[in-house]
Amino acid sequence: MKKVVKFGGSSLASAEQFKKVGDIIRSDETRRYVVPSAPGKRFSDDIKVTDMLYACYDEAKAGKDFSDALKGIADRYQEIIDGLGLSLSLEGEFKTIEEQFKAQAGSDYAASRGEYLNSMIMAEYLGYEFLDSAKYIFFDENGVFDGDKTQKILSKKLEETERAVIPGFYGSMPDGSVKTFSRGGSDVTGSIVAKAAHVDLYENWTDVSGFLIADPRIIDNPKNITTITYRELRELSYMGATVLHEDAIFPVRKEGIPINIRNTNRPEDPGTMIVETTCVRPEYTITGIAGRKGFVSINIEKDMMNSQIGFGRKVLGCFEKHGISFEHMPSGIDTLTVFVHQDEFESKEQAVLSSLRHAVHPDMIELESDLALIAVVGRGMKATRGTAGRIFSALAHAYINVKMIDQGSSELNIIIGVKNSDFEKAIKAIYDIFVTVQL
Ligand code: ASP
Repeated sequence: MKKVVKFGGSSLASAEQFKKVGDIIRSDETRRYVVPSAPGKRFSDDIKVTDMLYACYDEAKAGKDFSDALKGIADRYQEIIDGLGLSLSLEGEFKTIEEQFKAQAGSDYAASRGEYLNSMIMAEYLGYEFLDSAKYIFFDENGVFDGDKTQKILSKKLEETERAVIPGFYGSMPDGSVKTFSRGGSDVTGSIVAKAAHVDLYENWTDVSGFLIADPRIIDNPKNITTITYRELRELSYMGATVLHEDAIFPVRKEGIPINIRNTNRPEDPGTMIVETTCVRPEYTITGIAGRKGFVSINIEKDMMNSQIGFGRKVLGCFEKHGISFEHMPSGIDTLTVFVHQDEFESKEQAVLSSLRHAVHPDMIELESDLALIAVVGRGMKATRGTAGRIFSALAHAYINVKMIDQGSSELNIIIGVKNSDFEKAIKAIYDIFVTVQL
């Protein structure tokens, strides 16, 4: 048994947090590869080291004196080193960083130092080998992650390395310069390392005990999701549930490696298991609810639409031409409705409408803005009768008008469109009917 363990910024924000992480790693000798983030916030209005690095680099780039800003960052690390009683000195590293900032090495280089330095401390603290991700994780000349090259080189190195710390968030370009993933990208590194090391489990340690059935800003104390499939997770994250970087599932999913989301501050909690497939039935028929506000519906009406071959293609072509992606497209006999993101659509609205008029000569086009989409997701729905019925009666009892319904034949999710102003109320009604009262 081998595991990769990734720790998020809040799990490594201070010496106290480092000690918890050290205890977690030492308590299980299969936790052989460690992927740290940069130190995150110690308290709610604290600043993440990654943000301090971006700001410091901006000053350097503008030709300003950035010594105070860099000193503030060095102090954050020194506090951790001292708190752990280590004798490690980062003085030489900070000299190099200063020189590189003056030479304008780029904001990716700047941001990557957060994980780089934190991993050095972690390696020293654990007595593990330190592997610089710039030498083992690669991007191609277009800045796209190069999975093949990485897999070859990183796999070989990990085969020879019993225990190692590999910084999250960055790798290198073909010219050797540092490149980062998008924000939160240490999750992606963890997944890449898990794949390369052929581990049995990727543990992703954060500050919550896994995924929740619904957003805690809307539902008081929502229940946890104990097991979720990759497909369900894709649906929920797309609709706004966060915890894990979206791209983190791809490398491990291909290899069939499960991810376990765990809480550094409550290591006794089992967290959420993310798996390819499972026979574990979700406790409540539905696995989760997520949603987003800010959609517009464009309703197009034309007599005899159903007999015109290519009508739908021409309609979607108008959106494509203006670079607008569509979310859903429910249809009737003589009507077709396209749901798009309001912020993408608004500035191109008139151009799209005129394209539609030219392309399909509709009898009527009607727009409705300020709509929200809610996804009710669950592998358990397939085997259960009446899920849709329960959702809609719950919404009706809450006096919520449903604007759109879309259920794919996979029966994995039901998408519901409501007014933005009904969004929270609708989520609450659905949560209550499945979880609170458990009908
Ligand atoms: N430190 C980086 C960020 O704040 C990457 C990460 O934490 O995953 O986005």
